[in-house]
Amino acid sequence: MILKAITISITLITVIIFTSSHRVPKVNIKTDSIKTGRKRMEKIKKTNKEWRKILTETQFKVLREKATEHPFTGKYDNFFEEGYYVCAACGNKLFESNAKFNSGCGWPSFNSPMFEQNVEFRKDASFGMTRTEVLCAKCGGHLGHVFNDGPPPTHKRYCINSAALEFIPTKLR
Ligand code: FE
Repeated sequence: MILKAITISITLITVIIFTSSHRVPKVNIKTDSIKTGRKRMEKIKKTNKEWRKILTETQFKVLREKATEHPFTGKYDNFFEEGYYVCAACGNKLFESNAKFNSGCGWPSFNSPMFEQNVEFRKDASFGMTRTEVLCAKCGGHLGHVFNDGPPPTHKRYCINSAALEFIPTKLR
């Protein structure tokens, strides 16, 4: 009887030691994002039929079919209010008003995104040009292109379609 109790105790202790030394480390997304400088972006996937229900015709053409609005026609081209811009399709925070500048190119221009991880880049070789396409990292929507002729300090010009953006004011009117 005593021998049986000792055997059970030894087995229990062995199991406890084994499980405690093989504990799977908890993944702390917050800490890991700080360490890597990147935060995991939750992706949104919808069919074209679903996008059509929530986007205007122009927004759909730009965001889902990569169309470019005519220069000097977008609602945010000559617009310099204080606030920030989100993706018109999914609300992902994209650009701040203090990064916006008047490039004179006819489209809203920014020298940097609000958060690096909120935009994605893709090589675009359409129309006989080699450009870098800018996409929303959350919904994959086409935003515009980025060029290396912007002002200091970034020297970048994020040339973005107004139709892909929605402005959120930070000042109460
Ligand atoms: Fe988006």
